Amino acid sequence: PPILSVRAVAKTYKNGFTALRAVDLAIEKGEIFALLGPNGAGKTTLISIVCGTVTMTSGQVLVDGHDIARDYRAARSRIGLVPQEIALDIFATVWNTVSFSRGLFGKRPNPAYIESLLRDLSLWDKRNSRVIELSGGMKRRVMIAKALSHEPDILFLDEPTAGVDVGLRRDMWTLVRKLRDKGVTVILTTHYIEEAEEMADRVGVIDDGRLLLVEETTHLMRKL
Ligand code: ADP
Ligand code: ADP
Repeated sequence: PPILSVRAVAKTYKNGFTALRAVDLAIEKGEIFALLGPNGAGKTTLISIVCGTVTMTSGQVLVDGHDIARDYRAARSRIGLVPQEIALDIFATVWNTVSFSRGLFGKRPNPAYIESLLRDLSLWDKRNSRVIELSGGMKRRVMIAKALSHEPDILFLDEPTAGVDVGLRRDMWTLVRKLRDKGVTVILTTHYIEEAEEMADRVGVIDDGRLLLVEETTHLMRKL
C-alpha cells in the first residue's frame, strides 16, 4: 500500500476561495515526489492538509494507513514538515533544538539517532552552537534535522530552495537523495521545473487547485 494516499481532497477557504479541487494522489515508500506549480496553485494548502494544520473541506488523507482526520496523532507522527519560513529558537543550541522537537512527539530520547542525523546534515560540529551563530544554509539544515527528529517516514519540504543561491540549491538536491537512500520518502514543492526534474522520481503538476498530471521525471519533458 502507498505510504501516502490523498483521495478526492478539496479545500474551500472561509472567504469562499477554492484552493484545491478533488485531488487524488498516491505516493510509494522511498519515492522523491515533487509538486510542481506556480505561486497560488495550491501546493502549500495540500501539504498543510496532509500535515493536519489545515482542515480539508472534503476528501480523505491516509498516512501509512492512518486517517489524518480520525487518527491525527498516529498520522502526524509519521510526517516531518519543513515549512517555507525558518522558525527556530535562535538562542537554543542545535542539539537542544532537535532533541526538544523529538520530545514534543512523545518519542524517547535517542542520542545515537540525533548524532547520526546531525552528522548526515553536516551539523555535528555545530551541535553546541546556538542557532543565532549559524549561516542561513545551516539554519535550513537545522530545520530539516528538527523535522526528522522523531524519525518520520515522510519528509515534506515546502519550497526548499526558495531564495537560496545556486550552490546551496545543489547541496539541497544532494541532501534529498541522501535522505531517500536512508529510506525517507521525500515530498517537496517547487515552481522550478529544473528542480523537479533534478530531484524527483515523479512529478505532479498542480495549477489552480487541480492536479493536472503525474509523471515519472524521465517522461516529463516530453509532456510539457
Ligand atoms: P502555493 O503553495 O501553490 O503557492 P497556496 O496553497 O499557498 O499555493 O495557495 C493557494 C491559493 O489559496 C492562493 O490563491 C492563496 O491566496 C489562497 N489561500 C491560501 N491560504 C488562504 C486562506 N487562509 N484563506 C483564503 N485563501 C487562501
Ligand atoms: P512547534 O512544533 O509546536 O512549533 P517548536 O519545536 O517550534 O514547537 O518549539 C516549541 C517551543 O519550544 C518554542 O517556543 C521554541 O522556541 C521552544 N524551544 C525549541 N527548542 C528549544 C530548546 N532546545 N530549549 C528550550 N526551548 C526550546
